[in-house]
Amino acid sequence: MRGRLLSIVALVLAVAFIGTTVSSYHVTRDALKLSVVETELPLTGNTIYSEIQADLVQPIFISSQMANDTFLRDWVLSGEQDSDAITRYLDSVREKYGFFTVFFVSDLTRHYYHFSGVAKLIDKNDPRDEWFFRVRSMTQEYEINVDPNQQENDKTTIFINHRVYDYQNRFIGVTGVGMDLDTMAQIINRYRSDFSRTVYFIDQTGKITLHPDRSISYNKNIKSTPGLADISATILEHPGRSFEYQRDGDTILLNTRYIPELEWVLMVEQSESDATEAAGRGIFLNIIIGLIAIVLTGLAIFLAIARFQHRLEEMATTDPLTGLNNRQVFDITLRQAVERSRRSKQPMSIVMIDLDHFKLVNDRHGHLTGDEVLKSVATLLRDAVRKSDILARWGGEEFALLMENCDQKAALDSAEGLRRKLSEITPVDSLPSLKQTASFGVATLRDNEQPEGLVDRADTALYKAKNDGRNCVRAAAPISN
Ligand code: GH3
Ligand code: MG
Ligand code: MG
Repeated sequence: MRGRLLSIVALVLAVAFIGTTVSSYHVTRDALKLSVVETELPLTGNTIYSEIQADLVQPIFISSQMANDTFLRDWVLSGEQDSDAITRYLDSVREKYGFFTVFFVSDLTRHYYHFSGVAKLIDKNDPRDEWFFRVRSMTQEYEINVDPNQQENDKTTIFINHRVYDYQNRFIGVTGVGMDLDTMAQIINRYRSDFSRTVYFIDQTGKITLHPDRSISYNKNIKSTPGLADISATILEHPGRSFEYQRDGDTILLNTRYIPELEWVLMVEQSESDATEAAGRGIFLNIIIGLIAIVLTGLAIFLAIARFQHRLEEMATTDPLTGLNNRQVFDITLRQAVERSRRSKQPMSIVMIDLDHFKLVNDRHGHLTGDEVLKSVATLLRDAVRKSDILARWGGEEFALLMENCDQKAALDSAEGLRRKLSEITPVDSLPSLKQTASFGVATLRDNEQPEGLVDRADTALYKAKNDGRNCVRAAAPISN
């Protein structure tokens, strides 16, 4: 009964706890995911874009300064005489600012001057030189162009191409600088290690141009990348959106952003499980706390029930006024003792005790004093009997005593001892003149006798004691078998 109640309570608690834990996990996970998709990934994109723009400011400024440099213009206008001079000039700019490459192309001679001193001719029919003719005919002052660097093993390079004019504002050539992608590679690597976000770039055809994982990069196209292939057309058409796709069984959250300076699309990715990992960490702690709470609650309930049950048992077995066993306990104990006695062939006796003229105590001194007397008598009897004897309040002002391993003579002696002790005390301290005697009826169990019969005979003996003038002990007559 106790166990069942406990398991029901534990079950209810566990179900409620698991329910709230699971739902709070989902709420937390959804909130984390939403903040990654709507805030963090776009913010990362913005930050990277700002960093790229900041990184482009200096090369653009230097290119513009070169284009307006009187030395460069004078050198071109005076017939491009001393090629060492232009090489020194280009190299000093490269060295000062740490550029990957610095160059000038003359419109008149179509010479390509390089900081290293190597010179070549620009060819209108070479598609690799197409950029020069584009800059030659464009209206804005400069362009940013990402191209393989012909001089450096076709390494991807960001070029700033700036138009150069003579003093009459006639176009005389193109100068500029080139940067390798190391700075940008550093930026995207940092995002990978610090935020477990993968940042990479694709060009307008979907080709991956820069990726922190070098083996993925170069010549790979998102149109043929599993998961991305399906959404590649939308990404290229509408850069700036958020996407979700599946890769290796994980959901990938993707934010895209167009970088007009490079004509690339910036891709910022994070796996959903990484983004929502924090929600899972909270769950573990939650479960531990929940389990402890369930165990403690169970323990508290167990203790409360145990105490309650103990008190119930006490209430069911104890007489509240005297603290003695009640009649139910006496009846049960008597039945068991009769069985035992029959089996062990050991004698057993009972004594019925009734206070003499107790009604007079109530009448003269009041009911409360009567209670006092009952308590005093109970205490005296309890202290006087053997540990193994069972003493009970039979009812009203009657007590019953059960003595195992006790024949009639011993029982009579005990009863006589009790009678004498009782007659000697004053049960109520404040009433020294008040005496309380009792009459005793003793009966010893006979062969085949039932408990009821034994009690009857003790009662009869008691009745006899009353008739014989009270304050005395009488034994029951044996019954014939
Ligand atoms: P006898 O010697 O013949 O036994 O006389 P008696 O007055 O003791 O017997 P009787 O049965 O006439 O009266 C018993 C009284 O005990 C009546 C009842 O009010 C009183 N009594 C029973 N239980 C309690 C109790 O719990 N408290 C008090 N104060 N009195 C009780
Ligand atoms: Mg009575
Ligand atoms: Mg009485």
